[in-house]
Amino acid sequence: MRILITGGAGFLGSHLCDKLLAQGHEIVCLDNLFTGSKANIAHLLGNPHFEFVRHDVIDPFKYEVDQIYNLACPASPPHYQYNPIKTTKTSVMGAINCLGLAKRVKARVFQASTSEVYGDPSVHPQPESYWGNVNPIGRRSCYDEGKRVAETLFFDYHRENKVDIRIVRIFNTYGPRMHPNDGRVVSNFIVQALKGENITVYGDGTQTRSFCYVDDLLEGFVRLMNQDATVGPVNIGNPGEFTMLELAEQVLKLTKSKSKIVHKPLPADDPKQRRPDITLAKKYLKWEPKVPLAEGLKKTIAYFKTKV
Ligand code: NAD
Ligand code: UDP
Repeated sequence: MRILITGGAGFLGSHLCDKLLAQGHEIVCLDNLFTGSKANIAHLLGNPHFEFVRHDVIDPFKYEVDQIYNLACPASPPHYQYNPIKTTKTSVMGAINCLGLAKRVKARVFQASTSEVYGDPSVHPQPESYWGNVNPIGRRSCYDEGKRVAETLFFDYHRENKVDIRIVRIFNTYGPRMHPNDGRVVSNFIVQALKGENITVYGDGTQTRSFCYVDDLLEGFVRLMNQDATVGPVNIGNPGEFTMLELAEQVLKLTKSKSKIVHKPLPADDPKQRRPDITLAKKYLKWEPKVPLAEGLKKTIAYFKTKV
């Protein structure tokens, strides 16, 4: 198949390019390089089945493709809050442009949604049927509400125009090719530990997240995209739940670092807990994660050792 990946030069997108090329597909990778980089796809530039296009998803685009994966959107809080209006535009206009293209060329289109649609959840763990607890006017809203509207657009194009959609809700994912200055917790802690700098735990560190290794996540993506039992949304994530203090301690142990843990103010609207209910992924995709946190962290630490 010919497959368009928006945000294909980012952390997840570049691994998805690798995976789909290895399966024999042709890839068009579209990215404006805001948080992604050519370095992530440098090894693919000579491949005749791979094409890179520098383009912004808020402007329309046209390609004859069979499938579209829409990943374009900054994912780390410092980056999506840097230009919040642009973040909302990217989610909303990016979704409209992908859906319009899918409608015209009859492609199946996949939306990278997020556990942020659950906000600071009052239901734990979070099933797809939970509608969420999202602040519409806070610092995180540009991302959370942008992604929620994107899901709405996907369902309305599906109901009104019969567009063939798939929606995944991604829980915190980590691995090689995260940017060292990305600002998300796993990359921050590893880079700080390797440099011998203080480990910055925001708040008291009792808030929880569930961390999925990138290879597990992408297997879930491809299974969701290529089955017909559900259009989603389907949660993909690792149900192992850790406090940020536990994560900091694991990183210190695995890097054998002498860095000290320091506490910094908790950002506004930071969700207190998050863990996916993956019943639907197990049922429809026969998917569950295989890589435990310590193993995934070791691979990610090995990558960052070559970068810092
Ligand atoms: P990332 O920041 O590494 O990748 C995002 C990519 O989108 C980058 O290459 C960036 O340059 C590109 N991009 C941003 N705005 C664009 C625009 N207007 N036009 C074209 N390209 C644009 O982040 P990631 O972790 O790889 O996330 C990929 C997708 O997965 C995002 O949509 C994100 O919201 C979603 N997601 C990721 C996680 C996670 O834990 N990694 C969790 C939930 C959702
Ligand atoms: N966090 C932290 N130190 C950091 C970066 C993040 O303690 O240097 C915390 C952050 O407050 C949040 C959790 O780690 O509670 C996950 O943050 P991240 O930005 O990775 O993702 P998100 O909040 O979007 O889940």
